Amino acid sequence: MNTFSTDLINWQKKYGRHDLPWQKNIHAYSVWVSEIMLQQTQVATVINYYQRFIQRFPTVLDLANADEDSVFTHWAGLGYYQRARNLHRTSKIIVRQYDGIFPLCPDALVALPGIGKSTAHAICSIVGGHALPILDANAKRVIMRYHNMTEDPSSAAIKKTLWDLAQQHVPQQNCRQYTQGIMDLGAQVCTKKPHCDICPVQSGCKAHHFGDPEKIPLKQKRPKKPERFCYLVWYQYDDAFFMQKRPEKGIWANLWCPIEYTSRPNVPNAAKLVELPQLKHIFTHFILYISPMIIQVGHQSIDYMGKWVPREALQTLAVPAAVKKIQRHLI
Ligand code: SF4
Repeated sequence: MNTFSTDLINWQKKYGRHDLPWQKNIHAYSVWVSEIMLQQTQVATVINYYQRFIQRFPTVLDLANADEDSVFTHWAGLGYYQRARNLHRTSKIIVRQYDGIFPLCPDALVALPGIGKSTAHAICSIVGGHALPILDANAKRVIMRYHNMTEDPSSAAIKKTLWDLAQQHVPQQNCRQYTQGIMDLGAQVCTKKPHCDICPVQSGCKAHHFGDPEKIPLKQKRPKKPERFCYLVWYQYDDAFFMQKRPEKGIWANLWCPIEYTSRPNVPNAAKLVELPQLKHIFTHFILYISPMIIQVGHQSIDYMGKWVPREALQTLAVPAAVKKIQRHLI
């Protein structure tokens, strides 16, 4: 075993995380759900969502048999709903093609919706103890700093080098501890502002000795995101609000939303208008400025497809994160 992996494994045993909910009774289903939730979301946020999700869908069969609305409801607030959609699609494939048993083979896993190479390797390594490297954001940061890689990590050549280096560090034994260790090190020690003084691999770390760890990985210059504006209108009658399910394509696909307008809507005579503070919501490719309005109407006839939802039931609907934030004013 090389020094990097030995030191990392020893450190993980002593200081790493051992009590995360998905670390108990390890099996492929729970590791897969946690890995998907942890993409773009911090551990502290994921824990509650994970527990609620597993309680409602304890097996891959339960998830496959659930309707999409129910899956979204248990995902609501985590954002990036494509992940929930892919979880649901993958669960159906696992049940249909693999009799409900996850194939612990990277090629088979990456062929499933929403599972990339690093996630596939993490599942195989944590569940099956396979000697495969991971390169999630934490592992990538550790490897790049350890080798003082100052290049742009998005280039194809650097990506290949990174996978080669990551593979070289993987031990033949204790792979689960190693994989957990590199994730823990990236999350707890080799953070944005690294704590090199307590790092178990400091002696071999090139960025620590010869470079500037805080400048690695190199930050890519992103073009300014375009801005869009919309109005979201919660029509209110008595103590219920009108909500509609979004189309299958486009932003917030299949989620429940109030009515969206691209320009300021007319307020019917005799209706009461309440305007809430504008909300800035950042998507991957653009920024959306939302002007929320509540229009209290005197009847239930609305010229849209949708349904009236009692105030207390708003919380149980699968709504986008931005809508959830605004609805705190209503609940
Ligand atoms: Fe990261 Fe510092 Fe450890 Fe290097 S020594 S791996 S920069 S925490």
